[in-house]
Amino acid sequence: MKQIPLLINGEFIASTSQQHIDVTNPADNQVIAQAPCATHEEMESAIASAKEAFKTWRNVAVSERARLMMRYQALLKAHHDEIAEILSQETGKTFDDAKGDVWRGIEVVEQAMNIPALMMGETVENVARGIDTYSYTQPLGVCVGITPFNFPAMIPLWMFPLAIAAGNTFILKPSEQDPMTPTRLAELFLEAGAPKGLLNIVHGGADQVNHLLHHEETRAVSFVGSVPVGQHIYKTATDNMKRAQCFAGAKNHSVIMPDANKAQVLNNLVGASVGAAGQRCMAISVAVFVGDSKDWIPELAEMIAKVKPGLWNDKEAGFGPLISDKAKQRVLSLIEQGKQEGATCLVDGSDFNLPGYEQGNWVGPTVFSNVTEDMTIYKEEIFGPVLCCVVVDSLEEAIALVNRNPYGNGTSIFTANGAAARKYQHEIEVGQVGINVPIPVPLPFFSFTGWKNSFYGDLHAYGKQGVRFYTETKTITSRWFEDDIPQGPNMTISLR
Ligand code: NAD
Repeated sequence: MKQIPLLINGEFIASTSQQHIDVTNPADNQVIAQAPCATHEEMESAIASAKEAFKTWRNVAVSERARLMMRYQALLKAHHDEIAEILSQETGKTFDDAKGDVWRGIEVVEQAMNIPALMMGETVENVARGIDTYSYTQPLGVCVGITPFNFPAMIPLWMFPLAIAAGNTFILKPSEQDPMTPTRLAELFLEAGAPKGLLNIVHGGADQVNHLLHHEETRAVSFVGSVPVGQHIYKTATDNMKRAQCFAGAKNHSVIMPDANKAQVLNNLVGASVGAAGQRCMAISVAVFVGDSKDWIPELAEMIAKVKPGLWNDKEAGFGPLISDKAKQRVLSLIEQGKQEGATCLVDGSDFNLPGYEQGNWVGPTVFSNVTEDMTIYKEEIFGPVLCCVVVDSLEEAIALVNRNPYGNGTSIFTANGAAARKYQHEIEVGQVGINVPIPVPLPFFSFTGWKNSFYGDLHAYGKQGVRFYTETKTITSRWFEDDIPQGPNMTISLR
């Protein structure tokens, strides 16, 4: 059985832990590897290594830190398809979708290559006579990343490249459900020439995370995952006086105005709702049809019904299995609840099974209409290939509905009317808005800006905010005396 190693102080080592978590192939639930639950001593070694490495890394020239990222980006590109294949095998994602997962991570590494410009501070000359003020951004120290299963390449790459380029060292605790992809990312990071201790990887679950959250040497915590865990991590990290950014669950609405381009809407909604088996934090899980656009629901349902789940290397497959049997049982029970609570199940994927892979976590595409706000399928993040269709009479009603929802990760509007789009973009209480773009994930020169229960913290992931999250500002006020030395003590707070 393949044992996933820990990465501590520049070495991949076998854990001495007696506790392991099985990593399974979601297509058939065969165990393909085992991830260790790092021991107390191993956790301490990882933190000590990161602490020690920070002493020298913080003094390495910023251009040299950028060059490490350039070499890393080149290696990631050269190994792009190979990483995507590992990713597909442990997540079940289709190969094309897995390539997108890797590519969107590489784009963040490209952002980290710009670190000299991103670290620039501010200056003002002559804030008082002969006095200048300038600021620097300096790294924090040991930073921590805790990542979810659904983007095992992209989300680790949201975190450690930018943190390390900014001069920090990093401890990653990847999802225990797909740790092989982050391990490969780390191998390539070492191959790019990363000095030992810059990136450490520990495996496990709540105990290992809590160790990192309570440790006095860890300074900042980046988390992506579910709402309850995100709340626990935000509260624990901040209780322990650490900086935290926690990206959590979502319920993303797409509003369809009757003047929208119908073909564009339907094509976009198919991929945005059931793509990746709905296991995307930016998946569209609620389609809000305004007025006559409701007449398109049957055609949308027909199109979604045609999407076939399949194996990662099946070119005809629209999406793969869910990550685990637990996730499958949860989605099936939500579909059942949707039926019992009175929604109309236009397409029912609960009986789907892939011949020859009956033990896998398969759920077929599912579409509900007549969904109302009080139903469980509307209130819960389903995280499966399930689209809920809601009908309202006006744009105002659609905006009010979306704004009542406790989540605020992403949303989109489809319309041909600029004024409607402008009103939506302005009034909607959601952090990422697409206009005729179904899944508006910003590229890394912007930041990933979820709101409300989809994010706890203030500085978001990547972009300028990501750099600010991983750095501290130092402001210097300096005077070099020439011959006009002020006479006598200054007993006030003002500069003279
Ligand atoms: P999860 O919360 O179960 O796990 C995330 C991480 O937290 C894992 O590394 C896990 O080991 C760790 N963890 C689990 N329980 C813990 C506990 N009690 N204490 C400390 N750590 C714990 O999430 P998941 O199922 O892997 O991922 C799916 C969720 O992630 C969905 O809710 C999805 O919306 C969300 N997500 C959000 C974003 C975003 O940007 N907002 C992006 C991707 C995924």
